[in-house]
Amino acid sequence: MSTETLEFQAEARQLLQLMVHSIYSNKDIFLRELISNASDALDKLRLAALTDDALTADDLHIAIEADKDARTITVRDNGIGMSRDEVVALIGTIAKSGTAELLRKLKETKDSSAGELIGQFGVGFYSTFMVGDKVTLVTRKAGEDTGTRWESAGEGTFTIEEVADAAPGTAVTVHLRPADEEDALYDYTDEWKIKGIVKRYSDFISFPIRLVKTDGDPEVLNSMKALWARPRSEVKDEEYHEFYRHISHDWTDPLEIIQMRAEGTFEYEALLFLPARAPHDLFQRDGRRGIQLYVKRVFIMDDSQELMPDYLRFVKGVVDAADLSLNISREILQQDRQIQLIRKRLAKKVLSTIKDLQTKEPEKYATLWREFGRAIKEGLLNPAEDQKAILDVSSFATTHGAEPTTLADYVSRMKEGQEEIYFMTGESRAQVENSPHMEAFQAQGYEVLLLTDPVDEIWVEAVPDYDGKKLQSIARGNVDLPADEKPSEEKTGEFAPLLTWLGETLDEVKEVRLTGRLSTSPALLVSDGDDMTPTLEKMYKAMGQDVPAVKRVLELNPAHPLVVALRDAHERDAADASLPETAELLYGTALLAEGGDLADPARFAKLLADRLARTV
Ligand code: ADP
Repeated sequence: MSTETLEFQAEARQLLQLMVHSIYSNKDIFLRELISNASDALDKLRLAALTDDALTADDLHIAIEADKDARTITVRDNGIGMSRDEVVALIGTIAKSGTAELLRKLKETKDSSAGELIGQFGVGFYSTFMVGDKVTLVTRKAGEDTGTRWESAGEGTFTIEEVADAAPGTAVTVHLRPADEEDALYDYTDEWKIKGIVKRYSDFISFPIRLVKTDGDPEVLNSMKALWARPRSEVKDEEYHEFYRHISHDWTDPLEIIQMRAEGTFEYEALLFLPARAPHDLFQRDGRRGIQLYVKRVFIMDDSQELMPDYLRFVKGVVDAADLSLNISREILQQDRQIQLIRKRLAKKVLSTIKDLQTKEPEKYATLWREFGRAIKEGLLNPAEDQKAILDVSSFATTHGAEPTTLADYVSRMKEGQEEIYFMTGESRAQVENSPHMEAFQAQGYEVLLLTDPVDEIWVEAVPDYDGKKLQSIARGNVDLPADEKPSEEKTGEFAPLLTWLGETLDEVKEVRLTGRLSTSPALLVSDGDDMTPTLEKMYKAMGQDVPAVKRVLELNPAHPLVVALRDAHERDAADASLPETAELLYGTALLAEGGDLADPARFAKLLADRLARTV
């Protein structure tokens, strides 16, 4: 049978390079990764055997064999195995999204956190090259007759060969480099070393992990106890953390562990984790989701989106339901009423846990909100869901201070006579804070929420009020503060011809009116009624969507010398050729002051330079 030599795909090669020249000091984890892969393969076979009579799934287990003389360690499973093409595709390439990003980050990263990155991106198998100078994988896919042998020294190429007599499942043999304490390379053929690693990282694996011995029966190394079925008081945090790592591929310990059990007509147990760090694909459509579904201890599926609302997609964990069929499909899951009920309860529990963190462990809460607040706020878009509970756990940047505030705290600080919760959306805190819209609010001491996440633009439209207080954008419509001096009728009359003329001259605005809310700026722009905000318009455009340009309302400060002078000039000679230019400058200034983009900056600069030339 012929041996084929193939090249690693470019990114895989770079990643291997990093592994060979080892970047991570804890090399023990290669064994954990192999066991984890083996366990997944056993899960898959057990599942496939449920629906395919031709497959058997008996005595599913993982075996570890160490050979001191040959300096090899082998991890063997009798799971699903891989076809030749799968070996080439899965082991020879890393077609995973985010690999390029991983490589870039790895290059910038110091030793200690590199492992976290690797785990997060799920490149587990390659970690064998941290300890081995050659790795051999022999596999036979369940239901197929011939097997495949894959071998590589972790450099540019690997070989592929057909094997007639491969055992079903997969065996990975690592040819160990010499032990070197300095380099954190232990003797991985040592029985105690192996036992220690398995106990530490893989105790909860639900299949027996057997250490094969030359002089006697194999010894089962793990307890196989489903962590979610054990009382919280009996499980060490470290065990939870290892389990979390196994299911999440995240090396950072979770912020919080949630355990739930429901008895009665519909029984289930759940073990959930709130991560401490957002995965790189949190905002990608095809990103990994977090919940695994088990039925009576049997793994059924990863990524069960039906069990957790999308806005809580970062929550990881396991739900073990007692009364579902093992053959349950995704389609059935989606319609199952009891699944919907579980989903509701899980979401409620997660939100109440976040609420508890907020009051009892503010630091953890702050981390959680920083990492996942943007995702959580997506839940506000759907009023049928947990809007009120989400608002209660949310916090927002505010003019009140550097620390974010809850809405409840905002309400408790509302001034006498204030009936609305004021906010402004925009692209950055600085931009919003310095916008002319803020002038009167700051001058009169009204607190304004500063909403700068893209999702903020959208949820504020979906949430009518909090605690009976309307959410009011200070950049929309007529917001009159109690202390604002409203322009008198007389003033309005004086300015009427100018306002009409400006409305006709400036194509970009839909209306021009006076305002009492400005003290230092001559003008500002506000959105009208339900019109789209400029930031939202920009977002849609960035996504390649065609949106009609939205016209806004120009509000003028009747006390500002520029506005007064413009009125006088217009009164003197409405046909003065320089008037339209002044109008354009006035509009452009309002746009710039709020951090907006001019349609034609070059033209604006020229108008301004010409005008300045006449005054210096
Ligand atoms: P990950 O486990 O994060 O997907 P790996 O590089 O460890 O990444 O493995 C890549 C893929 O190779 C796995 O997703 C799986 O499909 C396949 N694989 C690895 N080990 C085994 C095994 N023991 N049995 C069957 N398939 C395996």
